Amino acid sequence: MDIEHNIQKIKSELPSGVKLVAVSKFHPVEALREAYDAGQRLFGESRPQEMYAKVQQMPEDVRWHFIGHLQKNKLKLVLPYVSMLESVDSVELLDAIERWCAEHSGFRVDVLLECHIAREETKQGFAPEEALAVLTGAAHWPHIRFCGLMGMATNTDDESVIRSDFNKLLALNAALQPMIGICPNLTPAFRELSFGMSGDYRIAASMGATIVRIGTAIFGARGE
Ligand SMILES: *Cc1c(COP(=O)(O)O)cnc(C)c1O
Repeated sequence: MDIEHNIQKIKSELPSGVKLVAVSKFHPVEALREAYDAGQRLFGESRPQEMYAKVQQMPEDVRWHFIGHLQKNKLKLVLPYVSMLESVDSVELLDAIERWCAEHSGFRVDVLLECHIAREETKQGFAPEEALAVLTGAAHWPHIRFCGLMGMATNTDDESVIRSDFNKLLALNAALQPMIGICPNLTPAFRELSFGMSGDYRIAASMGATIVRIGTAIFGARGE
């Protein structure tokens, strides 16, 4: 894998302003260093212990997005180190994060709400109407800054299915816009749309994603 080449190629395809999260889960720290040397500073990890270990080994100017399922007993491995938690998928997790932040002298965490937009049953996340309810009640969680939405399309080659999945996220985002600045804690920081992975990032970028999360197309296949 020519990691530098892959990163340059993907960057050349993305509209300026779209943030590229290099999803480095399951890859050794040497691969992350190669990406770092190619200028990449934003990395995505999905397992707390693995991210924690990599944080210790990578330079301090790396920014980390956590993108996996986060258990409440793993918060301390993740929250102090992430610049964004993209994968908040339950009210219980929001409550646990709020409590953790309140106990750790004014910590604040930037989060995206993960929404279930795929046709597969297995993908986690809020249903769009649940996400709407959470965000209209965002003042419940004063230590959490809601920065936008995250979603994953159905794993398919059918572009029309992918587009219709992504459109669910866009429709939810459109429904939320009038509440920004009116609902406490739903501020203009709420502007990120994280959708698009190795197989569908070109579609995502053309539909208005502000963050794409790309692993395989940068680092090659994972031995999951
Ligand atoms: C693994 C993962 C990705 C990256 O997937 P690729 O297909 O390898 O680009 C993106 N988002 C999430 C939430 C993931 O878990």
